[in-house]
Amino acid sequence: MSYRALRITRDDSGYRCQLQTLDDADLPAGEVTVRVDYSTLNYKDGLAITGKSPVVRQFPLTPGIDLAGVVEHSEDPRWTVGQAVLLNGWGVGETHSGGLAERARLRGDWLLAIPSAFDARQAMAIGTAGYTAMLCVMALERHGVQAGQGEVLVTGASGGVGSVAVALLARLGHVVVASTGRPHEADYLRQLGAHEVIDRASLSAPGKPLAKERWAGVVDSVGSHTLANACASTRYGGTVAACGLAQGMDLPGSVAPFILRGVTLAGVDSVMAPRALREQAWARLARDLDIAKLEAMTQEVGLADALSLAPQLLAGQVRGRVVVNVRR
Ligand code: NDP
Repeated sequence: MSYRALRITRDDSGYRCQLQTLDDADLPAGEVTVRVDYSTLNYKDGLAITGKSPVVRQFPLTPGIDLAGVVEHSEDPRWTVGQAVLLNGWGVGETHSGGLAERARLRGDWLLAIPSAFDARQAMAIGTAGYTAMLCVMALERHGVQAGQGEVLVTGASGGVGSVAVALLARLGHVVVASTGRPHEADYLRQLGAHEVIDRASLSAPGKPLAKERWAGVVDSVGSHTLANACASTRYGGTVAACGLAQGMDLPGSVAPFILRGVTLAGVDSVMAPRALREQAWARLARDLDIAKLEAMTQEVGLADALSLAPQLLAGQVRGRVVVNVRR
């Protein structure tokens, strides 16, 4: 059976990502074949589509680190035909063909049932960005950050991880301070639940080893000087959950916040997170994410549109979350 897919090729003429019509023979090995209904565009998908960073390590390959759809064929007893499933990460869209296609073939171990609170489109409005935001919130909680302790900073707030983190933390009763380079998105961020919106320039330049104590917790999707400054201004005993590198992969800070203020730097990875943690994160999303806010942060595009949106996303010009309707 033929199906439409984005396809990345790399040869003597260069690195390209195009919309193509493929055949079942092009599907990779796996126990479960899924009819994909929705995928999304995350930062990593932007890197894969543009080739700006070497996230794709096998060619040809269909990008898309997320997908939601229905099981069409299964050799895994845990999954039955007709079941609604989702996938985040596990190297899909990097080393195994992914979700920006009408069909995918995957390992049964990688799939989760879509929680009953969500349909496939909502699951992809959340996607890896939203599930990672939840992992960050859970990391803060694990290290004792609770509502009522003080302000919680979210960096890269207008982006995918940031938008979901703002909505989740506000719903959980935290006083959320949203850092953004887009002051015109202040109303959007306040609608998601931000108490205050600050200019990211106040965090993105080289800073001091220690700054005035302000944050009880931080969700950082930006890295580099922003992460160093966030650690330097975290209150005694606070926690910083670090998941991203939108500003840079470096961490040009000092150990001062950790050894003088007992600050915890909690690393968050969504790609290889164990299944039990994923199930917990999705159950928490079903409980703690306001669906109306999710809708307010989401735009829907077609498969080919993902190609033109990818560079805009990497340039920090896309607000919130992008759902890709792969049948459009
Ligand atoms: P988005 O592009 O949607 O959001 C990133 C946001 O970061 C932008 O919207 C912008 O927010 C801010 N930003 C962009 N460029 C800069 C810059 N040069 N300096 C400071 N801020 C900047 O991406 P996602 O939300 O999908 O992902 C965010 C980050 O998290 C990425 O680095 C991604 O790789 C990482 N990530 C990691 C995961 C993990 O498993 N650890 C999983 C998912 C994402 P604003 O305009 O509001 O300032």
